[in-house]
Amino acid sequence: MDGDDQEEGQPGPAGTFDVLAAWRGLPADCQEAIGAAALVHILGLMGSMQGLSPAQGYRAAEHEGIQSLEQAVLTHLPDAFDGDGLPRRPELAGIDVHACRGCGCTQDHACEGGCWWVEEDLCSTCAGQAVCVSAPIFDEAGRTNEK
Ligand SMILES: [Zn+2]
Ligand SMILES: [Zn+2]
Repeated sequence: MDGDDQEEGQPGPAGTFDVLAAWRGLPADCQEAIGAAALVHILGLMGSMQGLSPAQGYRAAEHEGIQSLEQAVLTHLPDAFDGDGLPRRPELAGIDVHACRGCGCTQDHACEGGCWWVEEDLCSTCAGQAVCVSAPIFDEAGRTNEK
């Protein structure tokens, strides 16, 4: 047995990537390359999922689109990757999705084992790791009205 720790996955780059700021900073032709690739991909995917024909046409769009998207992002958004070429975690606020500021989990994609909102943008998993929580959470709920 090798004591290999790969199963947990390797940690991503520190910090998050502001997709809206990045998009707004792109020249129009780069936006066009990324936008067109995303549209081709998602329409191909949706057609494939609904079993539409010609199936090869939808399948081709799905895969060509995602490849083109990957290439366009690598080419036009180098800041989306760290020095090792690893993708930074995107900020979901850019697509109007509410996410934890610590780990990026969302209402529909919780931490493994489940989590809940401790603050508006902080989940219970991340709050459990924070050292600077000023008051224990169970204080209010656990005590009856002591004056
Ligand atoms: Zn979290
Ligand atoms: Zn969470």
